[in-house]
Amino acid sequence: MFDITKIRGDFPILARKVNDRPLVYLDNGASAQKPQVVIDAMNIGYSQEYANVHRGLHYLSNLATDKYEAVRGKVARFLNAGSEDEIVFTTGTTEAINLISYAWAAPRFQPGDEVVLSIMEHHANIVPWHFLRERMGVVLKWVDCDANGDLDPQAVIDAIGPRTRLVAITQMSNVTGTVVDVATICHAARARGVATLVDGSQAAVHMSVDVTAMGCDFYAITGHKLYGPSGSGAIYIHRDRMDEMRPFLGGGDMIREVTRDTVTYNTAPMKFEAGTPGIIQQIGMGVALDYMMGIGMDAISAHEGALRDYTHDRLAGLNWLNVQGNSTTKGAIFSFTLQGAAHAHDISTILDKRGIAVRAGTHCAMPLMDHLGVGATCRASFAMYNTTDEADKLVDALEFCHELFG
Ligand code: PLP
Repeated sequence: MFDITKIRGDFPILARKVNDRPLVYLDNGASAQKPQVVIDAMNIGYSQEYANVHRGLHYLSNLATDKYEAVRGKVARFLNAGSEDEIVFTTGTTEAINLISYAWAAPRFQPGDEVVLSIMEHHANIVPWHFLRERMGVVLKWVDCDANGDLDPQAVIDAIGPRTRLVAITQMSNVTGTVVDVATICHAARARGVATLVDGSQAAVHMSVDVTAMGCDFYAITGHKLYGPSGSGAIYIHRDRMDEMRPFLGGGDMIREVTRDTVTYNTAPMKFEAGTPGIIQQIGMGVALDYMMGIGMDAISAHEGALRDYTHDRLAGLNWLNVQGNSTTKGAIFSFTLQGAAHAHDISTILDKRGIAVRAGTHCAMPLMDHLGVGATCRASFAMYNTTDEADKLVDALEFCHELFG
């Protein structure tokens, strides 16, 4: 059973006040709060169980290695990957997509080859492809969403041409909350021999993900949005694509043998993990994934779906509020501006005075903001521990802003 009181009690920060008001944390799209089990696991990791991984023969090194390596299996289960060998640890989605750009795409793409992107991508899924455009003459092909924030999967499929090598697409917009039908896109791309990279930074927090059924080649997640530590993350890489990749960062752990004149590499996935990793961060992410799987992704989705519907209805009653994107397949993320009123930064500052944390700005999605014709928005993004009472507090505070700015 989804017990919201118990869940809120698991997150110690939710009991604190900000500006003398109970914290209403609605900046989960940027980073989620951490349950006590994650904090405890990291504390024990550093205070009782810390050593470097993989290279020691002593007790603590073996313990740390076992705990760290166990996370690979947890990520594989969380994403329903075929094998934990298809999971590469990263510091987050940004590193994950850069890894694919450097290690898989750059050695294989030719000038004039295309990457198909949606207009809803986060800069983390744009700039690495701009690097290939600047350096190699790779062409970026953009597919727009409509005014509602919906992305037609067929429009993405139609954008695939004879020179398309990759479709790189988000499963959930961090601005509008739109959930994209990535499975339809991935299957069609695979049938045409085109690889797919799915940015799961937002989606994997809110719904159950099955990369095997989805049929993608790459799927990136970032630990700090998944109630885990910052500096943790992973990417699923289909076995066939893994075999095509050349190493990215060089150093310890990713080699088999180094001589003065030669180097041979470790097997995948270790081949793509050079140097000392974020040991305790990844262990913390593993505990966070256990925590989410323990509650159940379907239960989390159901709670957040009800929150989305409630918040949508309440915000729809404010006829001076412009919400960007009202897709029928969206998560509980609301980006908005107040008609004729102050800048989004001013609104967020006023909300903050009431203990309400939201994000304001362009949300690392400038092409989307440009497409929607907005400069900056406030974004309220909900998580499993938020409540309808908190949505009411948001609405009250917005009404106050409206009165203030007229
Ligand atoms: N992609 C999306 C959709 C995001 O929302 C974010 C973070 O805001 C990222 C990628 C980048 O994630 P990270 O900064 O953790 O690497």
